[in-house]
Amino acid sequence: MNEYDVIIIGGGPAGMMAAGRAAECGARVLLLEKNDSLGRKLLISGGGRSNITNAEFDPHVFLEKFQDAAKFLYSPLSRFGVKDVTDFFAAHGVPTKIEEGGRVFPISDNSRSVFDALSHYMRQGDVTVMPNTTVSGIETADGAISGVRLGSGDILKAGAYVLATGGTSHPETGSTGDGFVWLERIGHTIVQPRPALVPIRIRESWVHSLSGISFPEAKLTILQHGAKFAAKQGKLLFTHFGLSGPLVLNMSRDIDELLQNGEVILSLDLFPHSDIGEIDRQIQMLFDGQKNKQVKNALEGLIPPLSIPAILSIATIDPEKPVHSVKREERLALAHALKGLPMTVEGLLGEDKAIVTSGGVALAEIDFRHMRSRLYPNLYLVGDILDIDRPSGGYSLQLCWTTGFVAGTSAAGKKDGLTSQILTK
Ligand SMILES: Cc1cc2nc3c(=O)[nH]c(=O)nc-3n(C[C@H](O)[C@H](O)[C@H](O)COP(=O)(O)OP(=O)(O)OC[C@H]3O[C@@H](n4cnc5c(N)ncnc54)[C@H](O)[C@@H]3O)c2cc1C
Repeated sequence: MNEYDVIIIGGGPAGMMAAGRAAECGARVLLLEKNDSLGRKLLISGGGRSNITNAEFDPHVFLEKFQDAAKFLYSPLSRFGVKDVTDFFAAHGVPTKIEEGGRVFPISDNSRSVFDALSHYMRQGDVTVMPNTTVSGIETADGAISGVRLGSGDILKAGAYVLATGGTSHPETGSTGDGFVWLERIGHTIVQPRPALVPIRIRESWVHSLSGISFPEAKLTILQHGAKFAAKQGKLLFTHFGLSGPLVLNMSRDIDELLQNGEVILSLDLFPHSDIGEIDRQIQMLFDGQKNKQVKNALEGLIPPLSIPAILSIATIDPEKPVHSVKREERLALAHALKGLPMTVEGLLGEDKAIVTSGGVALAEIDFRHMRSRLYPNLYLVGDILDIDRPSGGYSLQLCWTTGFVAGTSAAGKKDGLTSQILTK
């Protein structure tokens, strides 16, 4: 019979980091994973490249992105911050590079190298991994966690337990919200998970026809009942159903909230750094050299060719018209269209397409110095299971590394004086 000090439930990035760290601190660690392999979501993260953190090395500035959760995260982030993460991966054979918006990626451009580093870290500490093992619940006794119940009915016991079952986004990767159900049953408060960082469905077919086109620096303004709400700038991607890309993902929560009150319109500014007059001058310069061309063929230097028919139609300009017969009012209508393309939101894509879920375990119920439950002294909570909103850009994985590292350290410290054994039913 094997004996373990720490049982980790869930083999995503947070669970793998917690397992490796607890083992590094001397604990005998068992990791339980229901899939036949670990890290499915990690492997698809960042388009298969894993944006592992964001290169903001000042913890105060880094945490500005976490709004209300920031005050909870100072302590764990000061123990394992952004620099610690890049150092950790470099030491495990994964040098990194910084891209646009401070996004940090492995130089290999391959999530597999991140996964391999974590697997190696766990092997170094002799972590026992049990894939194909579904946990069906956690047991309590005398105010502590007393065991983990498996789907088979077996009960596994250890001194400390780390819950790393993730949220509810992309359930095909294994994150089906199981941990939320168990925690609610034993008295923890779960803030209702909702899809966050999720692409948006747009009604107008011209948007769908631009699928694949991206704008590195666009501005999106959210409107409802004629009033302006949030406006943000960033990279935007047209898709066959509507919009995606970091700009849209980061606005999806606001849009979701407003949708509860009625129709939401998005106004897209393709030239956020120019005013109408400047754009009109650009159009005139473009037209000056090609007076006899049809207008649809004269705008290629300004906007992607695929987008021209849609934009001319919104500006109500006949695309076949020769440039020399375009009136001043039409030119101005075109400039206005480029600064405010209207789109009607149909809804958000479902949880299956969300990058993360907002909601999860209420933060006040966690001691963040150890990532330990305030209700159960031998229970640790890490990664997406926590109720922490954050933008896209590497912030989610940084949370996994930080909380996993801190929980692994503390859970390993719990081993002394606690008996560890595996009991069968
Ligand atoms: C498409 C996509 C791209 C992303 N890209 C990025 C990115 O580039 N950068 C970034 O910072 N973040 C990114 N994220 C978010 C990031 O991947 C998550 O924040 C991260 O994976 C959460 O890790 P976790 O360990 O908490 O949970 P998960 O990765 O969800 O892992 C949970 C694990 O627990 C297991 N499990 C669940 N229930 C049970 C059970 N009952 N018994 C046993 N095992 C169980 C699951 O099978 C799973 O393996 C992306 C997410 C998606 C969906």
